[in-house]
Amino acid sequence: MKSNRRTFLQQSLIGSAGLGLGIASTSEVHAAPVLDAADTGLTREVDVLVVGGGTAGTIAAIQAGRAGASVLLVERGSQLGGTMTTGGVAFPGLFDAWGKQIIAGIGWELVKESVELDGGILPDFAKVPQRHYQNQVFTNQFLYALLAEEKCGKAGVEIAYYEFPQAVTKTAGGWQVDCAGFGTRRRVNCKQIIDCTGGAEVVGLSGLPRLREEERQPGSYLYMMGKSHEPGRNQIHRLYVHGADSTNSRTATAANLTGRKSILEHVRAKGQRLMHLQPETGFRESFRIEGEVLITVNDYRSGRKFEDAVCHAFYPVDLHTKAGVKPEPLKRGIVPTIPLRALIPKGSRDLMVAGRCVSSDRLANSGLRVQASCMAMGQAAGAAAALAAKAGTTPLELPLREIHELLRAHGAIIPGDV
Ligand SMILES: Cc1cc2nc3c(=O)[nH]c(=O)nc-3n(C[C@H](O)[C@H](O)[C@H](O)COP(=O)(O)OP(=O)(O)OC[C@H]3O[C@@H](n4cnc5c(N)ncnc54)[C@H](O)[C@@H]3O)c2cc1C
Repeated sequence: MKSNRRTFLQQSLIGSAGLGLGIASTSEVHAAPVLDAADTGLTREVDVLVVGGGTAGTIAAIQAGRAGASVLLVERGSQLGGTMTTGGVAFPGLFDAWGKQIIAGIGWELVKESVELDGGILPDFAKVPQRHYQNQVFTNQFLYALLAEEKCGKAGVEIAYYEFPQAVTKTAGGWQVDCAGFGTRRRVNCKQIIDCTGGAEVVGLSGLPRLREEERQPGSYLYMMGKSHEPGRNQIHRLYVHGADSTNSRTATAANLTGRKSILEHVRAKGQRLMHLQPETGFRESFRIEGEVLITVNDYRSGRKFEDAVCHAFYPVDLHTKAGVKPEPLKRGIVPTIPLRALIPKGSRDLMVAGRCVSSDRLANSGLRVQASCMAMGQAAGAAAALAAKAGTTPLELPLREIHELLRAHGAIIPGDV
């Protein structure tokens, strides 16, 4: 992947490569006290539970919190950002199409601040690039994760790391969700759930149908090797992990072990230094939901304007196979849209998804799954869930105009606005 700023990884990882520079400084802070730390069985009542604090979930939680909802964000890992940070895919695309910005809002705010704080360069969206990836925004994954936590804090979002749902039960007023973490359990009673786990894991737990292909796109493990201490001379590598499967902890473990073993062999064979290794494989594809509407590749290629569109998406059809990838750019002027109904599992109540599990066929999904679109879906789901919790309705029963107004008030671009 080419980039408009290619040195952040190198710069930020020099220390971890053990360059004999010594420790530059030591300082100290105290962890915030956890008053109920000894309590191994908590109960929490919230308006909105967001499961998965990745690309879409972080934005969903911030939006719902900013809209006044009480929000709990449950993330099974140790930081926010998901594939963007833990997977190391920190080049979100695409916020622009055909010379205009078409996705903005909270995701863009976070990306822009990460780049600015890093002293980086933002692409000029007025210019239509020759290749789509030239307008992806090279972002410092570490700053992104830190700023995401700060924004969650300011929006009043409570974060629960190392936790994940084990059981979900429909109740009259929403959902009861039983979560586990190490040394702790938590029962969450919430009005709305937003499933942002990438693979629609809450939807799966609830027994609703999910779509999955026999053969999925490969995952990729990102790492950096180099010969010298000079940042510019190190290179980022992307190892395709065929068969990588994020279905459960056993399949994800297999992908990680396979990827790391191969990287170790690569290091030995090349005689180079391993400068950085992401903590886990990035997974391109697992489950998608069967929503109230399913976005087809024809909808995607033709830029269908859904009547309940809540955001845009823009990227080539981009299916990775064993033979590699040959992106199929969209025709000039085409900008696909994502309808609210594609975020709602068919026949469900008080449950939405956002991110790569959006209701879509496989080819449409290969374009829809990119990060700017996931962020825009996250913001739309966060807004709808907050409004629905307040009104005591389901997201589908809300007047679309109210969702649009709330999204615009938080900087989002609604199809038809540009
Ligand atoms: C190798 C690779 C390269 C890519 N290249 C690009 C690119 O160049 N540009 C681009 O824009 N997009 C790219 N993409 C696509 C994009 O990065 C992903 O599709 C997108 O980030 C997915 O966002 P998400 O929010 O759906 O999932 P994620 O960002 O993966 O977030 C899911 C989160 O949910 C958490 N989670 C999962 N299950 C549970 C659970 N049961 N309980 C609690 N938490 C849970 C995970 O830990 C994670 O934090 C790439 C993807 C990959 C894998």
